[in-house]
Amino acid sequence: MRIAVVGAGVSGLVCAHVLSNEHLVTVFEAASYLGGHTNTVEVDLDGDQQRVDTGFIVFNDHYYPNFRKLIDRLGVRWVLAIRGTPEFDRASGMPHLRPADSSDWFTAVFEYARASPQWRWTAGTVQLREWQGKVRVFSVESQSGGTFQLKEQWYPGWSARIDGVAGQLGQTKDGFQEVTVAGGRHELRFEYRAQGLRTGALVSALGWMLLLIVAKRG
Ligand SMILES: Cc1cc2nc3c(=O)[nH]c(=O)nc-3n(C[C@H](O)[C@H](O)[C@H](O)COP(=O)(O)OP(=O)(O)OC[C@H]3O[C@@H](n4cnc5c(N)ncnc54)[C@H](O)[C@@H]3O)c2cc1C
Repeated sequence: MRIAVVGAGVSGLVCAHVLSNEHLVTVFEAASYLGGHTNTVEVDLDGDQQRVDTGFIVFNDHYYPNFRKLIDRLGVRWVLAIRGTPEFDRASGMPHLRPADSSDWFTAVFEYARASPQWRWTAGTVQLREWQGKVRVFSVESQSGGTFQLKEQWYPGWSARIDGVAGQLGQTKDGFQEVTVAGGRHELRFEYRAQGLRTGALVSALGWMLLLIVAKRG
């Protein structure tokens, strides 16, 4: 089915994520950012600039069992806090959050020690080799082989290579990516390339060539 989700607040985004497993979902958002109420706005208090989090201040295990499950399901591992704010001080004192960078950038990154892994491989052992913006590389080993799941939204443009050979990238019932791996030791590489990027570049190049030809003749 083709489904339209109107609004990219937390409700719309979660609906789109869950439905995208079986349906073709398009999200429409009126604002220029994702998140809806869950946002940070700057306010001027008599010349004193303050950032106010709207929409998400209270969060705990007791009252947020489903949200907690969503965080586990997505394998959320990183927490951002703006230096010099009470949230930063609170995050710095939490036993399960450890500072993940030593820069003095105005947002600090903390790693959540209890985060669930962003992959699932029950057939044998797995080692994360590389995790870049558009690339994830793993070494896996098993006797019988099995299905490797990556907790990354299945989306056109992602591909999987097993030992350098293209593999069949499937979709899990949770909307994530999966690939079948034979027994033995293998390197798995997941990579994202925006579809249409090459076509766009080709059209731009042809356009520039045409302009040059016209300019030369004129
Ligand atoms: C100040 C404040 C503090 C809060 N504190 C907490 C808290 O501590 N803990 C907690 O759990 N909850 C808190 N909440 C509540 C929580 O933030 C909201 O319940 C939640 O963010 C709502 O998400 P939503 O997706 O339902 O709606 P929204 O976040 O409102 O998202 C709706 C989206 O739809 C878009 N939209 C609307 N009409 C159209 C249209 N016609 N076309 C396209 N897009 C459209 C809007 O631009 C928006 O992005 C707080 C809320 C506020 C305002």
